[in-house]
Amino acid sequence: MVQEGIKDSSSKLDIPDFLYHDLFDKSPIPQAVCKMNGTIVELNLAYARLLHQTAESDFNLNLSNFLTDSDWQREQAIWNSLNAQDLFDYRTTYLLPNNQVSKISISAVGLEVTNEKLIFLTVNSSEEQKITSSFSDRSNNSQANNWEFSSLAQESLSTIILCLDVNGQIIYANQAACSRLGYSLAEIYTLSVFDIDATFSPTTQIEIWSQHWQDLKQRQSVVIESRHCTKSGAIFPVEVTANYGEFEQQAYNFVQVKDISDRIENEKILQGQIERELLQTSALNHKNYRLQQEIHERLQIEEQLRQSQKLLQKLNEELEQRVTERTCKLMESQQLLQLVIDTVPQCIFWKDQNFVYAGCNLKFAELVGFECPEAIYGKTDLDLFWSDRNAYSLLRSDHIVMDLDFPELMALEPETLACGREVWLESHKVPLYDLDGNTIGLLGTFQDITKHKQAEESLKKLNLKLQQAITKADAANQAKSDFLANMSHELRTPLNGILGYAQVLLQNSEEQSKEYQIFRTIEQCGSHLLMLINDILDLSKIEAGKMELLCNDFHFANFLHNIGEMCRLSAETKQINFGIDFPKTIPEIVRGDEKRLRQVLINLLGNAIKFTDRGAVSLKITEIATMNPNSEPNLTQVKLRFEVVDTGIGIAEQQLPIIFQAFEQVGERHNQAEGTGLGLAISRQLLGLMNSQLHVSSEVNRGSTFWFDLSLLVISPNNVQSVWETTVRVEPQNTPPSNLAVTMIAPPPEEIEVLHKLAMLGSMKKIRQRAKYLKSLDQKYTLLADKLEQLAQGFQEKAIVNLIEQYLK
Ligand code: ADP
Repeated sequence: MVQEGIKDSSSKLDIPDFLYHDLFDKSPIPQAVCKMNGTIVELNLAYARLLHQTAESDFNLNLSNFLTDSDWQREQAIWNSLNAQDLFDYRTTYLLPNNQVSKISISAVGLEVTNEKLIFLTVNSSEEQKITSSFSDRSNNSQANNWEFSSLAQESLSTIILCLDVNGQIIYANQAACSRLGYSLAEIYTLSVFDIDATFSPTTQIEIWSQHWQDLKQRQSVVIESRHCTKSGAIFPVEVTANYGEFEQQAYNFVQVKDISDRIENEKILQGQIERELLQTSALNHKNYRLQQEIHERLQIEEQLRQSQKLLQKLNEELEQRVTERTCKLMESQQLLQLVIDTVPQCIFWKDQNFVYAGCNLKFAELVGFECPEAIYGKTDLDLFWSDRNAYSLLRSDHIVMDLDFPELMALEPETLACGREVWLESHKVPLYDLDGNTIGLLGTFQDITKHKQAEESLKKLNLKLQQAITKADAANQAKSDFLANMSHELRTPLNGILGYAQVLLQNSEEQSKEYQIFRTIEQCGSHLLMLINDILDLSKIEAGKMELLCNDFHFANFLHNIGEMCRLSAETKQINFGIDFPKTIPEIVRGDEKRLRQVLINLLGNAIKFTDRGAVSLKITEIATMNPNSEPNLTQVKLRFEVVDTGIGIAEQQLPIIFQAFEQVGERHNQAEGTGLGLAISRQLLGLMNSQLHVSSEVNRGSTFWFDLSLLVISPNNVQSVWETTVRVEPQNTPPSNLAVTMIAPPPEEIEVLHKLAMLGSMKKIRQRAKYLKSLDQKYTLLADKLEQLAQGFQEKAIVNLIEQYLK
């Protein structure tokens, strides 16, 4: 039903009435007009379909029939609140035939038509959206086909409604289209679809549009997404529902445009959410993968654990087996230990911390009168058979052992056993510790030391006897030394007489005569005897403790030089090298017993030359220390090493300890003939008096070294180089010894006789005087005289005798 009044008032443009009508009727959006009591006065095909009705049945319809009572009441309340042109969106549920339900969203607009309030309903969305219709479906005789309604309805819609002709020209646009696109109604009718749809480009738009038109014609209804452009140039996304329609041989495209900015935005948000969720899912997947891996690993570990458990079980079984075996062995070793303890010859016991016996061996049990070791449990020393004195001593020693953590050895007073035997016991105790090192008691032994004690007693008695014997022997020895000293002295006087007269007799007899030989033998034997007596006298003096050192200050280098001169002749005679080496720094004047030091050195050098047939003999002196003696704080003391080195026959190792004993001679017989076997014994004793010690090292056929260290007080530390050469060296002469006589001119025989006598008497002073006298006789005797003087200076009795005897024949 079309009302002319409405048509006239709204026809600002020359739009045909039928178009309004068709727009309403063919609109894909369900639209209806109702009275306030719910009677539907107009509905389009889409609404009729929504309600599952035909277009013919619309006048008999009341909307309340499609609603529950409560929904109808609610809906009426909404309608009542609406004034004309008011819009209200709400949701409701239609109960349809065949028990179907349709949930829909409705926009209700109040209308005022010829003083009657009507409600214009537009379904915004529902499960029933698809409308396929054609103009032919439309009932021509619809009474409620009210143009005003249709027009109003189209204009009231918030959705953009457009009608395009076959060229894309806009021939209808509703109010929503104008306001969303920003054009006035007049402007919009000048536009085509290419002006508002931003997806078209000028070059291809015709082609695309015609293709679209074909497609639309074929499919009748097409839904596409596109972008529309407002007048101000703003672009917004849209969902376009295009419906194909024909009227009076003209084709039209009825377009419903939905702004889907929100939807796109929501889709973007949704997409973001989806992406985030995808990321989360990926992370979760990753986690899941890790978890799976973890589970796999755990399973593997569980498997390994199971294997280990099995292994452990096996090991446990083995361990138990071993424990059982060990326990058996332990029991065996315990039994063995008990056996050992019982077999040990000592009595063994152990006590707890309270000094109470906790165990013992069989021997101890028997000692203290018990039948078995167990009887000792709980006893203390006070319960045993010890005398009170011993019992308390034992308890005291227990305290020492445990309180001081100290082993204790003690001897008991003699005890009398039950059998009546008297025993001496010795107790030895040590602390007993647990594994943490805490003292838990003590372990002790008792040892029967009766035999030791008895032996000790007899040893004591023996010692006493020995001491008495030693005292007696010492006294006898002293007597012997005294006797020897006296005898030696007494012997020398008559011996000198014998020697003197033997020499007188020699002088008075013919050299070739028998008497001469006899007197000569007497004289030689006497000389040897005198030498022996002198040595014995020295040794006796030393042993009797009567030898005293006489210290004097002497020129040390001079002293060494003289010794060298004394030995030179013997070395020359044997054609061996001889030298004295001493450092430049030796002190000039020293304090010591010059005579005894000379005696020692001449003895060692004499031996060295005597036992060396080729090579060299040397005396080396080295300084090994200097110090300040306590006795003479102002003076320094120099410690010198004296070494007598030879390349002679040497001494076998096993004979080395013997040679220092008196009267001991080793080696070949013919080498022994010249000596007495007392020289080294005397030298050692003399050095002992000087707080020194004589050492020797020797190798057979390679030579010997005798050495000793001696401290001498330094009186004048001057460097001696300016006075003496540091080395006195005697090179052997190439000429044989017999040639000596040629160089040393022999004095007259009477002079030789006198010198020989004096040499045999050992009077060095007189030899020196006679040597001076010789020189005064004739200068040609100087060489011999000097030699004699040197030898006499060095008390070289033997050498003087040897020298003079060369001229005797
Ligand atoms: P003797 O008067 O016999 O030389 P000693 O007491 O001086 O007595 O020497 C004891 C012995 O030691 C000598 O007989 C000799 O066998 C041995 N002896 C001492 N010095 C040397 C040496 N330098 N080389 C080899 N043997 C030596």
